[in-house]
Amino acid sequence: MRRWNGWGDETTHYHLPETSFQYLVERVGDATGYPDATLEDALEAVPSSRLPAHPLIKTEAIDRLNHARGQSLPDWLELRSGPIQTYPDGVAYPTSDSQVQELLRFASQKGFHLIPYGGGTSVVGHINPLKGETPVLTVDMSRFNSLLELDETSRLATFGAGVCGPDLEKQLNERGYTLGHFPQSFELSTLGGWIATRSSGQQSYYYGRIEDLFAGGHVETPLGPLDLLPVPASAAGPDLRQVLLGSEGRLGLITRATVRIRPQPEVEAFYGVFFHDWPSGVEAVRQIAQARLPISMARLSNAQETDTTLALAGKDNLILWAKRGLNLLRYGDERCLLVFGITGEARLARLARQQVMEIARQHGGLFTGTMIGKTWRKSRFLTPYLRNTLWERGYTIDTLETAVPWIQTLPAAQDIQQAIHDAMRPYGERVLVFAHLSHVYRDGASVYVTYIFRRTADPEQTLRRWQDMKHAASQAIIAHGGTISHQHGVGLDHAPYLLAEKGEVGATLLHGAVHTLDPQKLLNPGKLIEEARDVAE
Ligand SMILES: Cc1cc2nc3c(=O)[nH]c(=O)nc-3n(C[C@H](O)[C@H](O)[C@H](O)COP(=O)(O)OP(=O)(O)OC[C@H]3O[C@@H](n4cnc5c(N)ncnc54)[C@H](O)[C@@H]3O)c2cc1C
Repeated sequence: MRRWNGWGDETTHYHLPETSFQYLVERVGDATGYPDATLEDALEAVPSSRLPAHPLIKTEAIDRLNHARGQSLPDWLELRSGPIQTYPDGVAYPTSDSQVQELLRFASQKGFHLIPYGGGTSVVGHINPLKGETPVLTVDMSRFNSLLELDETSRLATFGAGVCGPDLEKQLNERGYTLGHFPQSFELSTLGGWIATRSSGQQSYYYGRIEDLFAGGHVETPLGPLDLLPVPASAAGPDLRQVLLGSEGRLGLITRATVRIRPQPEVEAFYGVFFHDWPSGVEAVRQIAQARLPISMARLSNAQETDTTLALAGKDNLILWAKRGLNLLRYGDERCLLVFGITGEARLARLARQQVMEIARQHGGLFTGTMIGKTWRKSRFLTPYLRNTLWERGYTIDTLETAVPWIQTLPAAQDIQQAIHDAMRPYGERVLVFAHLSHVYRDGASVYVTYIFRRTADPEQTLRRWQDMKHAASQAIIAHGGTISHQHGVGLDHAPYLLAEKGEVGATLLHGAVHTLDPQKLLNPGKLIEEARDVAE
């Protein structure tokens, strides 16, 4: 069963040995695992529903609690420490376009808000009901979960948009195909959510981001149904698929999506390479990306992330020996780990691996074979469970990310991390900050930053600290000309920074699209576009 106040399935745990906690104690201090609010408390706090009765709408407390929050840090604070500030007034689980149309009609007639909900894995407040007088209905799309059509000639598959990662892949794998979209939230996130947030999978270098995979689909909007033709390319004016991508539930409910699939790869392997330091690793990865070598992913950790990854891997003896070996070979404290993947045809994969290794070697790279890559693959969807384990011991872990041109990767990564440290300093607290380049492109890369700090007895205080770090990091991102999000989207948390990225005219254009399709402002208000702009219309 899914955890109501944390990540993933209740029976899955990320075990950390005491030495790993000791590592954190040395870097941020000893922490206290303050007790969580109980499920009973949370259920009791669910207020009575303000929605009029309707056969498609459930108002039971458990449904409303389970759809109240996503996975952002403020969400976690409310779920685990309480109180949860807002709940949806009801939840609907439609199974057909006509039911979605009926919910939209009912919302328009009665004047309530409607939040499309995929897997609820948003990390930026996308699915949270806002405070206010207007009742809120969450529309859970999980019943739209089957493969509806498979066109093997064109390699196109049409799915119900509420299908989650494992169910989608299972239905394709059984027929010899894959979508290859593997965000770290794969276990719970859905196709509709990926489209609505412009998600990026870990192997997007090979398979493409969701915008490369999304060929067309069907959307129920307040103005009526919208069909997006699955054509390979088009010069028929601006591409409306691009308008839907990243629309964050504000333009309509995606009920079906046609995606570009591939046969399952002949081979797939992941490898580890150590560099003497971060700048040489970054230079190697840039050259690999610009040579257009057919890798499937490249994740280059900086020195702090490399060290922390080894410390939290939970394999003390092995790591001790690995570190000794690396030191002997003069890969000292500044060493950085690159994990890269090769996916595809065996013949091309061999060639690609050789070419990657050649570039890596020119930059001092030490090829270590597949052991690290295998461990990465095995734990790629387990890592999010680490957040549960750390929380229980009093530590909070959060991430933020951007994408910048290559020329900005080093200074941006440096300044974002520094901004987080500086923001915590007035509290007399330390924070462990590290970074990696996760998705690489010809012209730049995404910079993904993780930070770990101690919770305080007062959740408000923990929230204030997080807000200060988040704001400082966001300002550093803007200062370096980065996007406010490479893959997590805008939601509530990034909305204040969107104007800096889109500009007045761009923001007006977005606003116009939202309010043309949704003149009554029924759908997910306050997300993507700041509440003030919503209200000002
Ligand atoms: C541990 C963890 C790891 C993550 N790793 C990644 C990663 O590697 N890459 C990445 O890109 N993201 C990642 N994320 C962020 C998150 O998983 C993505 O934003 C994901 O795309 C959200 O999908 P979802 O189905 O959970 O959508 P939800 O969280 O339910 O909703 C997100 C937004 O999409 C809208 N929406 C959902 N379904 C529909 C629909 N059918 N029609 C219209 N609108 C809809 C919602 O209204 C909301 O605005 C991660 C999150 C977590 C918690």
